[in-house]
Amino acid sequence: MSTFPRSYPMSGGDDQHSYINNSSYQVSAINSVREKTRQCIIEKLDLPLNSDLGTFRIADYGCSIGPNTFHVVQSIIDAVKFKQVDAKNEISLMPLEFQVFFNDQPNNDFNTLFRTQPPSSEREYFSAGVPGSFHGQVLPRNTVHIGHTSYTTHWLSDVPENVDDKNSPAWNKNYIQCNHSIEEVTKSYKAQFTKDMKLFLEARAEEIVPGGLMIVLGQCLPDGVPLFKTDQGILVDTIGDCLMDMAKSGLTSEEKIGLFTIPAYFPQFSELKTEIEKNRSFTIETMESVRHPLEDIPLSNQFLISMFRAILSTIIKEHFGEDVIDELFDRVAKKLAKYPIDFKECEKNVTYFLLLKRK
Ligand code: SAH
Repeated sequence: MSTFPRSYPMSGGDDQHSYINNSSYQVSAINSVREKTRQCIIEKLDLPLNSDLGTFRIADYGCSIGPNTFHVVQSIIDAVKFKQVDAKNEISLMPLEFQVFFNDQPNNDFNTLFRTQPPSSEREYFSAGVPGSFHGQVLPRNTVHIGHTSYTTHWLSDVPENVDDKNSPAWNKNYIQCNHSIEEVTKSYKAQFTKDMKLFLEARAEEIVPGGLMIVLGQCLPDGVPLFKTDQGILVDTIGDCLMDMAKSGLTSEEKIGLFTIPAYFPQFSELKTEIEKNRSFTIETMESVRHPLEDIPLSNQFLISMFRAILSTIIKEHFGEDVIDELFDRVAKKLAKYPIDFKECEKNVTYFLLLKRK
């Protein structure tokens, strides 16, 4: 099995331009569910917000380097404060103190995160960095009152079994991600996703206090839609094709491509729901698809390419070497200019919003 970097800097790519595009795509979704998040906290948070609680603890899992995480954390705090005032559940309401745990993989750039967080004069919380994989427990039991994660749970903890083994029916050939066109590959990816989702939820169940909430925002596929029919699936397949072209020109090898697989899996909506329902420690309070604000705006090739360059650069460099990136994405741009993605014909990913309550 190939070894992959333990961090995928989806919003911290190798060029600033890509970073802004990718980050703004995610932040527009985060902003669009801000009101929903607020309502959910006000209605569903089942904790006495009085001085017995003392410190209110929030964790953002897979926070990256900011700034999205700062917006999320602030809106959670605003909602909790509003609920506290609204509840008037104590004669003299002691203002709560907030502590925020920023979690990501150990090689996340936590320095940038802490350097760019709001200055202490404006910040209403104490910050702590928590390096470690969210597929295991990263905080002590019963620590967190509200957990949050966005655009993270499609990242797998490892390459699924056999998808990089030429002699296996689950070999992903020259595809670089599971695009749902080879059944055995899909099975293998799904098995890894099931395992990882289980570990993620079990770890959160340990960390989140009874009555506390876990908010998950992410991307999945509509039921019955394979990844290769979506614009993002087509783009990833195009990257794979361009790698193959580069192998033909001697710039990399087919053998290397056969061993390369992106450890990310986008489940279909019901598939995701089934995995979540298996965990008995949470109740599903809300699980719905939400409109992505950019949904009706046709994404330009340039936008998609820079977004995927930001997402995949690190992982591609690790496997193929530093030199391939510029050449690869030049080729992708040329190929898409020649054979443009027909956005009207493509299926769309689903942005989902999930609210879990710890029993
Ligand atoms: N939540 C941010 C960043 C999303 S990018 C936002 O919505 O803008 C995905 C992040 O998840 C990356 O920073 C990546 O390092 C992190 N990540 C992926 N797998 C992880 C894991 N197993 N444990 C912790 N963080 C992980």
